[in-house]
Amino acid sequence: MEFDFDAAVIGAGAVGLATGNALAQRGHSVVVLEREAAIGQGVSSRNSEVIHAGLYYPTGSLKARLCVAGRRALYAFLEARHIPYRRCGKLVVATEDDQLPRLESILAQARANDVEGMEMISGAAAMALEPGLQARAALDSPESGVFDSHGYMLALRGEIEAAGGAVVCATPFERATPLEAGGFSIEAGGEAPTALTVRQLVLAAGLGAQAAAAVVEGFPAARIPPRHLGKGVYFRLSGRAPFSRLIYPPPIPGALGTHYRRDLGGQGVFGPDLAFVETEDYTVDPARAESFYAYIRRFWPGLPDGALSPDYAGLRPKIHGPGEPQPDFRLDTEADHGVPGLLAMFGIESPGLTSSLALGQTAAARLEGEADPY
Ligand SMILES: Cc1cc2nc3c(=O)[nH]c(=O)nc-3n(C[C@H](O)[C@H](O)[C@H](O)COP(=O)(O)OP(=O)(O)OC[C@H]3O[C@@H](n4cnc5c(N)ncnc54)[C@H](O)[C@@H]3O)c2cc1C
Repeated sequence: MEFDFDAAVIGAGAVGLATGNALAQRGHSVVVLEREAAIGQGVSSRNSEVIHAGLYYPTGSLKARLCVAGRRALYAFLEARHIPYRRCGKLVVATEDDQLPRLESILAQARANDVEGMEMISGAAAMALEPGLQARAALDSPESGVFDSHGYMLALRGEIEAAGGAVVCATPFERATPLEAGGFSIEAGGEAPTALTVRQLVLAAGLGAQAAAAVVEGFPAARIPPRHLGKGVYFRLSGRAPFSRLIYPPPIPGALGTHYRRDLGGQGVFGPDLAFVETEDYTVDPARAESFYAYIRRFWPGLPDGALSPDYAGLRPKIHGPGEPQPDFRLDTEADHGVPGLLAMFGIESPGLTSSLALGQTAAARLEGEADPY
């Protein structure tokens, strides 16, 4: 049968666009459907824009493999297309002696994950690199960085279109019905509701992943993971940014913890914290500043009173609740949900942005029944 497109990707965040591009570069005709009026308005626009080196994730997990491979591919992609980034490096700091074993175990994990250049340095060495810092010891991660995630997503969109694909905004995906001969008939709403047929379907819908899976006919409800929202807020620093490297304390359960970054505009930003919430609410409660001051002063005692102002918030698309272990990325195929030609992504929280190019390549390979490329 003749399909309108070889593949449809639902969601034009970093991961949907990277997947659309991976499929387009394989010679497939691709349409990316996005419900918002523009690309990159979801989780991909409310994060730290940090390129993670891949230190923390269990060796062999998708998060470990795709973060390391995705980070290497991302730097090459940004460099080749002149998209702003800074490979500024990161210090994971221990401010108390009882955190030192934690740094040792992160170092061992990072080395097992094949992360380049990792080194334990003394507190004195860390403080010499970043005057004003307070540290008993630190892990130096030279491959960590920050980048312009919107420039990146615009470039991905451009590449999909240059390969003959389409990225269509203001077009919410509403239903997919498997066809007898294979493939899907898809309905999308918006101002000009439309129907189209595709051979393959990818769900990369971020916070909308569960709702998107629920409208694919034949997708077993029991195979849709629970949806939890892990809210994180950021505070912006007025005045000069104190450090050039990223500064991270050791991770907290469920997240990497509130950290410092100097953004590409040269300003200091702190966040995100973690609170499980019930609704999609992006307000930043100024009262949370209190806990930020206390937390930050453990590694930067010089933080002046009144220097933090509320900035923005993001929601992590979690598939685990408070106190539960953090699961791996899920790129579910027919073997998981029983629907041929469908790849459904769930739980694409951090390091999803860093991993996006590798997530896209892995999704494309799995759709074609190939082994994982990384
Ligand atoms: C606070 C925070 C900090 C983070 N920091 C980092 C970091 O520093 N580094 C890092 O690597 N990762 C980080 N992450 C994770 C990273 O941001 C995400 O993993 C990544 O952006 C997810 O991209 P995505 O394309 O899957 O989701 P999204 O960007 O949310 O894209 C999904 C898209 O699908 C669309 N959509 C949903 N339903 C439908 C529908 N029915 N029809 C059509 N379109 C639909 C949405 O509108 C959205 O545009 C952070 C996340 C958070 C929340």
